[in-house]
Amino acid sequence: ALEIRAEMINALVKKHAPMCMRQLGQTLEERKHLKHQGRLQFGLFLKELGLGVEQALLFWRRSFANITDDKFNKEYKYNVRYNYGLEGKRVDYPARSCARIIMQDTPGPQDTHGCPFRHYSPANLASTLSTTYGLGQAQSSEILATVKSGHYHVACTRLFEMTHGVARGKGLDGKGESVAHPNRYFERSWKLQQ
Ligand code: SF4
Repeated sequence: ALEIRAEMINALVKKHAPMCMRQLGQTLEERKHLKHQGRLQFGLFLKELGLGVEQALLFWRRSFANITDDKFNKEYKYNVRYNYGLEGKRVDYPARSCARIIMQDTPGPQDTHGCPFRHYSPANLASTLSTTYGLGQAQSSEILATVKSGHYHVACTRLFEMTHGVARGKGLDGKGESVAHPNRYFERSWKLQQ
């Protein structure tokens, strides 16, 4: 894993993370807050990227910019430490796979966790593809059609290909690997840049 510091996260996530994590990062930046399931999904992803617990505490403390240290320590510090297996049941929880994110803890209307390909309305997904990713009409329509037929992983893999200059069908590793885990997506994107 990389050694990641709190101040590197926002830029790294924008550049290399899949849409689910990028959207969580963006919500956190905009609202200075993420709800419980969003914190879990994003926090465990960041842990597996190589963010240690001290840097994670710093990241969450800075990100929740509108609350006091006291409130942070009382309400959120425990959760961060819990994700690292330092509180409660003391389980070093793994980052969530795509299957886990797509099938469990379905987000409600106010939530921002989950898989955008599975959980966004077509209109919301189309707008994210054009505003956040700058996709044109043809590319966007292709992704939306793939989602409509229920192939969320394929849609995510196609978006990776389109945004990394990778030919159709070459996938994450150049040999057709499909997205099955947000961390693998990040790692492949990171590697392509090296
Ligand atoms: Fe995230 Fe997986 Fe959905 Fe891609 S397919 S957005 S990596 S949950």
